[in-house]
Amino acid sequence: MVKKLIRMALRSLLDEMVGVGDAVLLEPLSENHFLENLQLRFQHDEIYTYIGNVVVSTNPYKSLPIYDSEMIERYRGRNLYELPPHIYSVSDLAYRSMKNYGRDQCIMITGESGSGKTEASKLVMKYVAAMSSRSTEVEKIKQQLLQSNPVLEAFGNAKTNRNDNSSRFGKYMDIEFDFKGDPVGGLITNYLLEKSRVVRQAQGERNFHIFYQILCGASPTVLKKLKLDSVEKFSYVSPGDANPDDAKSFNEVLSAFDVIGFTRAEVDSVLVLVAAVLKLGNIKFRSVAAKNGMENCGIVNREDVVDVCEMLSIKSQSLTSALTERTMTAKQDTVTCTLSANEASYNRDALCKEVYDRLFTWLVNRINSSIKVPSQTNKKCKVMGVLDIYGFEVFEHNGFEQFMINYCNEKLQQIFVELTLREEQEEYVKEGIEWLHIDYFNNAIICLIENPHNGVLSMLDEECLRPGDVTDSTLLAKLESVCGKHEHFESRRATKFLADKTLPHDAFRIQHYAGKVTYFVENFIDKNNNSLFRNLSNAAFLSAHPLLGGAKGLFPEGDPSITVLKRSPTSAFQFKASMSALMKNLLLKNPNYIRCIKPNDVKRSSVFSSDLVRHQVRYLGLLENVRVRRAGYAFRQKYEDCVTRYKMLSPNTWPLWHGAAKDGVKHILLNVKISPDQYEYGRSKIFIRNPRTLFKLEEHRAAA
Ligand code: ATP
Ligand code: MG
Repeated sequence: MVKKLIRMALRSLLDEMVGVGDAVLLEPLSENHFLENLQLRFQHDEIYTYIGNVVVSTNPYKSLPIYDSEMIERYRGRNLYELPPHIYSVSDLAYRSMKNYGRDQCIMITGESGSGKTEASKLVMKYVAAMSSRSTEVEKIKQQLLQSNPVLEAFGNAKTNRNDNSSRFGKYMDIEFDFKGDPVGGLITNYLLEKSRVVRQAQGERNFHIFYQILCGASPTVLKKLKLDSVEKFSYVSPGDANPDDAKSFNEVLSAFDVIGFTRAEVDSVLVLVAAVLKLGNIKFRSVAAKNGMENCGIVNREDVVDVCEMLSIKSQSLTSALTERTMTAKQDTVTCTLSANEASYNRDALCKEVYDRLFTWLVNRINSSIKVPSQTNKKCKVMGVLDIYGFEVFEHNGFEQFMINYCNEKLQQIFVELTLREEQEEYVKEGIEWLHIDYFNNAIICLIENPHNGVLSMLDEECLRPGDVTDSTLLAKLESVCGKHEHFESRRATKFLADKTLPHDAFRIQHYAGKVTYFVENFIDKNNNSLFRNLSNAAFLSAHPLLGGAKGLFPEGDPSITVLKRSPTSAFQFKASMSALMKNLLLKNPNYIRCIKPNDVKRSSVFSSDLVRHQVRYLGLLENVRVRRAGYAFRQKYEDCVTRYKMLSPNTWPLWHGAAKDGVKHILLNVKISPDQYEYGRSKIFIRNPRTLFKLEEHRAAA
């Protein structure tokens, strides 16, 4: 009895000192209280907090001693409420549920840039890798899966003002397991790389890491082969941006390529393409007055063109004319016109962005071919998917990318609500438990964006495909006339609003579930169009570079023998299709959530900025999440499992209970005097409303 009292006193003291581990226990539940709890925990390096089985993770911005193999062993096979909250606990739950019950899992990691999603995804992978066996074959697969990270980070991550290692693409990775729970392979899907970064970066930001890594880390011989020299010489990378880690990281990337199974020739081809993009970026154009009075342009530094052509095995004349001319075919007629210096620079940038973007997708596919599960084992596999995707973004200036990213977040929110509520409701119905319905659907906003007849995405595509004078302004006008009356759409001229003076003329605003975002339409049409002028794709197709040219290369559409040209699908179309495939995939799996929070904007370990966190708590819908959990039952357990675990708590069930499991549970709960309003008997499970009840049972058990 004394021991029990001491234990209880210690727990409440601990709660007071480091906050409660499960926000479902917060009394009273308010936004301020929720924030104070997170802050208190953060200050004590308790960066994880549960909302039921959702993990809220606050970025500590410092290395904590909580991820080593001892910790992994501590969490192995333990229930959520037995140990302090940890990302390993949720990883364990997902892994066990997959291995023991054969349920495919997905772990959805969301949060804003710099909140710790990618680090979290790597911790999940680390935990899962540690769970499985150590045979040579399994070790090889594990290493291949883990080593895909440095490669994809080198090519897809960059320093931004928010995060020194920001993922500039979305990633979903299915890890496939055999019946023993050993990984046998995987499949990575990438989403919307921020390719504009190849040619332009905001003040204080960098290009993708790989550019600096090659320039700082490659040996003089390799640099010579790649026709590269110091960072200052390249206009796509700002001088002074390279850092001492780049050289080290380059070697890690090379060894990761090796582990995954890239051949030397493949790695060389990849490096040549990256170097060629850098060299292409240096090509300058100057205006030349043409005889016909039209603007014309010439290349200032022909030696760079010669270099690039040598690297890519393209005829110099072919690249020069592809960059400076445009051929148009109308019916049977072909007309070639010359480009101005500005148009040629635009053309050059478009080529570089496209080469890099397609190279990135090629890398993902190449990794996939190494980690692919042989088709005969494939059917029996169980899957754990890990989603590390951009969080909701609201900047001062939001453009096409933010629109796509926020659309993705609407979809994720929709399935979050659908999966958590649907699962709860289905279980309550099945078990005959009464339940209060809570409505948090965001379907109206999703309709506004993706409705095939009058959604923003279809208007955008319609405008891009329309012949004639199409501009960003005509797009805005179309959106205003078609979507103007929608309850979640606003613009300066949209009819339902009397001139909202705060809205600029060249923008529209969407009331997302997470808040209002104003999108500037500039470049929407261009970014959506996604097609290279045919001269460029022809030149790339004719290259003898092993990755770039030919029908199996990066620009198959550039085949000059193709006469009937199909328009390449727009970015919006592709993104919508990839989102719909992702949602379909996620809906088939048992969901697990990690919600990441960034504590401050200065990447410091000791600063907790309440306003910043409040904003994230709001748009991640965390309070609603707690409410949903509280309206329902925090825990449920099969009667048999409950009797096995707690039989020592009642003399009627100890040491062996022979009756129906449900009756055994009744004895136990009566004996420990748990108030009847705290639980409900379902058909096959006991439903416990409040996690405290569970703690109480655990405490009694420990004291018994
Ligand atoms: P983005 O959307 O920009 O890709 P992100 O959410 O993936 O951002 P991360 O790159 O995972 O953010 O984290 C940003 C940085 O925060 C890391 O580079 C690391 O320095 C730090 N960090 C994140 N999580 C942890 C952690 N659990 N322990 C220690 N440091 C962390
Ligand atoms: Mg990331």
